[in-house]
Amino acid sequence: MEFIDESLICSLLQDETLKDQSLQNEIIEKAKEAKGLSLKDSAALLNISSEDVLDNLFSAARQIKEKIYGNRLVLFAPLYITNACVNNCLYCAFRQDNKELIRKTLTLDEIREEIEFLVGQGHKRILLVAGEHPKKSSMQYLGDAVETIYKVKVNNGNIRRVNINSAPLSIDNFKVLKSFGIGTYQCFQETYHYETYKTMHPSGPKSDYAWRLYAMDRALQAGIDDVGIGSLFGLTDYKFETLAMLSHAFNLDKNYGIGPHTISVPRIEPALNAPAAKNIPFAIDDSSFKKIIAILRLAVPYTGIILSTREKAEFRRELFNVGISQISAGSRTSPGSYKESKESLKEHEMEQFQLGDHRSLDEVVKDCCNLGYMPSFCTACYRSQRTGDRFMELAKSGDIGKICVPNALSTFKEYLIDFASDGTSSVGEEFLNEQISRVNGTTNSKIKKMIERVENGERDVYF
Ligand code: SF4
Repeated sequence: MEFIDESLICSLLQDETLKDQSLQNEIIEKAKEAKGLSLKDSAALLNISSEDVLDNLFSAARQIKEKIYGNRLVLFAPLYITNACVNNCLYCAFRQDNKELIRKTLTLDEIREEIEFLVGQGHKRILLVAGEHPKKSSMQYLGDAVETIYKVKVNNGNIRRVNINSAPLSIDNFKVLKSFGIGTYQCFQETYHYETYKTMHPSGPKSDYAWRLYAMDRALQAGIDDVGIGSLFGLTDYKFETLAMLSHAFNLDKNYGIGPHTISVPRIEPALNAPAAKNIPFAIDDSSFKKIIAILRLAVPYTGIILSTREKAEFRRELFNVGISQISAGSRTSPGSYKESKESLKEHEMEQFQLGDHRSLDEVVKDCCNLGYMPSFCTACYRSQRTGDRFMELAKSGDIGKICVPNALSTFKEYLIDFASDGTSSVGEEFLNEQISRVNGTTNSKIKKMIERVENGERDVYF
């Protein structure tokens, strides 16, 4: 596990020379070239304390976000299919020793009903989430679940990309997982700090730090070339965690020529009968959390940053400004709770953690338009084999915008016609036309042709 060098990380964070404000501003200037940051540069920015330098950091993060991703925000919803788990993570309500949790594993019919609800809302991307259990979340069950999800059609709607967050697998089983037609494989190390990891994961297969740490190596070796990493912020010092997660990203880039497709930044939230979620060891304030996201945006400019509904709506709006590129909306974290679709006491006795943003997809879409962000339901790259290094090349060339903008606008037009409420439809149409008017040249006429095809009833118009 040599690429998580704890002593190097600690020495960088204690290096007084890296606390120099003019050096920090120099690094921020350099980062605007969108070539990424070194671990040392990232350590310097993690030590920013001056408000002026912090503002400089946030505006640089916004510049890089707009340079590479424009004003798009990709939307998705999580689907929890089972809360059965053989691990005992001290921050999670699904942990095996939590006898207060009502356990549920969805049947394929129940999965179909959940997806019918999400497709009916307008979702096109799903993050399938399952606890680790040899029987309740077997490869067979995961495969059947993915197949069931892709088969659902509701009027013009369907799910076009299924990402998965599940337990680490062997290379052979990752090949099987790839054969299910998944998009991104996600697995969070939770914490890279070895001793903290051992404490937080006292039993079960997840107590094996190295097996989890090398999960992405095995997934990439098995041919899954879109992988998503993440840390659960609050388990250990956030500066250490950020540098360790970047070390992981850099190591994947060094060994496979592609860094992670996405990085997720969940913060610990209250969870039923979860000791580490009651007394959060290293709770992070909002300003530090915002700093982490901005630094990640500068350090790995071509990696998507995912923000979930753990965070409250008001703060999510603020974080969109500093580099977030993907958000969940209208989420639920307990199996079967979409169909129930109303907050119930029972739901809290089944969920993994409590949410901060309870708005519906339609409310989030409208809010994005009002904030100047283009809601995107695009899934084109993965279905056009623009994944892994091919995606990274396109992103690094700066040409990705020529593909993303038309595809995003096409999916948004679909949403407005098929799913938007009246209020969102009027705000959205005005915003859409304003966005189209900003695009010049051949891309503009391409967009107009795609929008016309959608208006004439075609769906899933992309290139
Ligand atoms: S975090 Fe994941 S592995 Fe750990 S108890 Fe919860 S569901 Fe199981």
